[in-house]
Amino acid sequence: MWIGIDDTDSPAGMCTTYLGAVLVQRLARAGLPVVGARLVRLNPNVIHKTRGNAAIAIEAVGDSETGFALATACVEELAEFDDEKTNPGVVVSSVRPPPDFYYAALRDYCTVDEAVLVLEAAGALYRGYKNRRGLIGATAAIASDFCDRTYELLAYRKRPAWGTPRQVDAASLFHAEEETYPHTWDTVDRENGVVVGVPHTPDPVLFGIRGESPAWVKEARSFVRSEEPACEQVYATNQGTDAHLIPGAAGTLLEGRSYLVRGTVATAAATGPGGHVSFLLADCGAELRCMAYEPTKGFRSVVRALVPGDVVAAAGSYKGGSLNLERLGVARLADAVRVRPPVCPACKKRMTSAGTGKGYKCRICGERSREPETERIERLLRPGWYEVPPTARRHLARPLVRGVPAWEEAMLRPDRGCTGNI
Ligand code: ATP
Repeated sequence: MWIGIDDTDSPAGMCTTYLGAVLVQRLARAGLPVVGARLVRLNPNVIHKTRGNAAIAIEAVGDSETGFALATACVEELAEFDDEKTNPGVVVSSVRPPPDFYYAALRDYCTVDEAVLVLEAAGALYRGYKNRRGLIGATAAIASDFCDRTYELLAYRKRPAWGTPRQVDAASLFHAEEETYPHTWDTVDRENGVVVGVPHTPDPVLFGIRGESPAWVKEARSFVRSEEPACEQVYATNQGTDAHLIPGAAGTLLEGRSYLVRGTVATAAATGPGGHVSFLLADCGAELRCMAYEPTKGFRSVVRALVPGDVVAAAGSYKGGSLNLERLGVARLADAVRVRPPVCPACKKRMTSAGTGKGYKCRICGERSREPETERIERLLRPGWYEVPPTARRHLARPLVRGVPAWEEAMLRPDRGCTGNI
């Protein structure tokens, strides 16, 4: 059977992945062997999410009624019902619903009624609490189709420690990453010298280790020194896979979806209030504002190094009329030139403008020139992919250490698309 759960936490506590870890133990104790556990990230732009829009799915062997009873009991005991935004959903099905609903919840928006239609068609047992919104994520989780997957080991705190400062030795996390990178990633952000895998919220998570296999996340975990965890769970996950991205074109993007868009840089980057950096991308006559927010730190210097005419592919979520950058691919660099008044051959001083359309004039000897001096500026940027640092990475965004999927790489090909100056 497939058991799906979502929407059990609030900013004040709990975490659906913890509830899943507890349920895995209870299923096993009740004689229902657990075959797999999934942490399924859904559309990162939904406004109802508490943190990372995660749902969980557990595959277990045994009677669905017993599984449903154990899952609902777990939710009723642990979910943060007092928070008005916590609306849990529990589903149990002996067949996996078709993956369409998962893709819709991952890349688009769904309704509770649509989830119920899917559940009815699958003959599933289900219970939605309060406004029943959690049924969306719970249904998407059991319908999830992982063409690509990564793993996360999550360690959880003992109950008395919840809400108190976490005791996790930062140096041991850096050591864990050194010993296991590139097979694990994002435990720490070495460039910015910060720990990434330890949350600051009052939920039960102690730390998380992300990597390519259960063996590698366990290996990294063996280096971590911390307060004694209550339990640990390894989840298969769609994190770090770019599963949320769809190919898009400027002028056609829909609010709250995530895209990879190709185009030509139309304006040099400008730094706005708060250190956010933006530029305009043009394609087929349409323009798209691309934003690199302050938390993306050093990634902003890549954006600032772009010049008009560069051909790029930009990945991110389209929100409030801007593409919020997660990654940037540079397909082709334009020639960057600096245009200045020429130097007077007689006086060796730089001329000044003689007026609009009138060329340049030496203020000392009166010499005139029509042509400016153009100087080619060396480009420090190189073609290829650039990403935000681990500290700013979204759960679904694929780290470059995992390579770039063929369809994304194809967006950088010179013969691709209708980009104006190709
Ligand atoms: P939790 O740890 O409790 O899962 P979270 O950050 O994952 O926290 P939720 O509290 O689950 O966020 O809130 C997300 C809500 O949005 C859930 O009710 C889920 O069913 C719903 N949801 C998820 N994806 C979509 C979608 N694509 N369209 C509409 N609703 C969605």
